[in-house]
Amino acid sequence: MLDFTRAEFIKSAAGADGFIRDGLPQIAFTGRSNVGKSSVINTLVRRKNFARVGSTPGKTAHVNYFRIGPAYITDLPGYGFAQVTRSERERWAKLMEAYFSSGCVTCGVLIVDARHKPTGDDVTMMEWYRDSGCPVIIVANKLDKLKKSEIEPNLGTIVGTLGAEDGSVIPYSAQTGLGRDALAAAIDRAVGK
Ligand code: GDP
Repeated sequence: MLDFTRAEFIKSAAGADGFIRDGLPQIAFTGRSNVGKSSVINTLVRRKNFARVGSTPGKTAHVNYFRIGPAYITDLPGYGFAQVTRSERERWAKLMEAYFSSGCVTCGVLIVDARHKPTGDDVTMMEWYRDSGCPVIIVANKLDKLKKSEIEPNLGTIVGTLGAEDGSVIPYSAQTGLGRDALAAAIDRAVGK
């Protein structure tokens, strides 16, 4: 079992020459800006201000590496923020392309908003993971914002839009901690620890 609570920040890489290539598994976290990616990582490691929350969306095109014993969490820059400039978008695409073609990704965690149908960017992200051949765990975050009656249909829409397997989406709330242990277990299974 990976001990997520012992996570420590290692480094931030702005390009391929900064990537860690030591052969340890890397669990890549992706999602739209503001979807709650930092908050999900914080619940996973059980620390309040570990990955930053609410930093300027779309402005940080870096891969952040957090060590969790014999593996890494990699925090990839959020996407889909309308106000980013074209050059920032290009820098983002270049970094993602380099990271996904590096062969370093062991497993992906795609975080989507439980309230909405996944966006075109989310679908593209899912395809990126598929092309890289690694297993993807889908997290439907902000579930606390749904009415009870909305949960099942929304999860169904997410599964259908992303072409995921039934039951493969983890209902999550970084606010209440719902889904935290299920996510930890799913990562363990995907990484084979
Ligand atoms: P990031 O840009 O994807 O890293 O998103 P953040 O973690 O910074 O979260 C964006 C905003 O959504 C913040 O105001 C968080 O407090 C809020 N947020 C994140 N997760 C949840 C959740 O599960 N429920 C609710 N209600 N708010 C959340």
